[in-house]
Amino acid sequence: MRILVSACLLGVCCRYDGQSKACPAVLELLKDHELIPVCPEQLGGLPTPRPPAEIQGDGVINREGIDVTAQYKKGAEEAARLYQLLRCDCAVLKARSPSCGCGEIYDGSFSGALISGNGITAQALNRLGIRVLTEETLNSLS
Ligand code: SF4
Repeated sequence: MRILVSACLLGVCCRYDGQSKACPAVLELLKDHELIPVCPEQLGGLPTPRPPAEIQGDGVINREGIDVTAQYKKGAEEAARLYQLLRCDCAVLKARSPSCGCGEIYDGSFSGALISGNGITAQALNRLGIRVLTEETLNSLS
């Protein structure tokens, strides 16, 4: 399969804090699959490092109180564009991220509390009928 993957899961230092979140189980996918790395927040024009952000209502606000919804939406559009251009089969995205999270995300209070929901890119992919997994639900990949 050709799989769109959150770049940070492959060891790319694209996270808000300038670090990566390399995941051995995702790297293992390289043995049998073609992985297409994307970082929607960078694709949306945000710098690295950058202030952390969380979804609040319909928007995304960073910890400095700045509305970064437009950048998140732009990044989601570009990730979806790459998915379709490269004819990917599914996506494996970073759990709980305000861009990439799928199933649960932080609640917008910057307290670490979680709620049900999807990140902005995961929402965009879901709207296109694309199957989105996270590094924590990889075992359902087939
Ligand atoms: Fe990783 Fe996605 Fe955040 Fe980029 S936007 S750092 S790929 S979780």
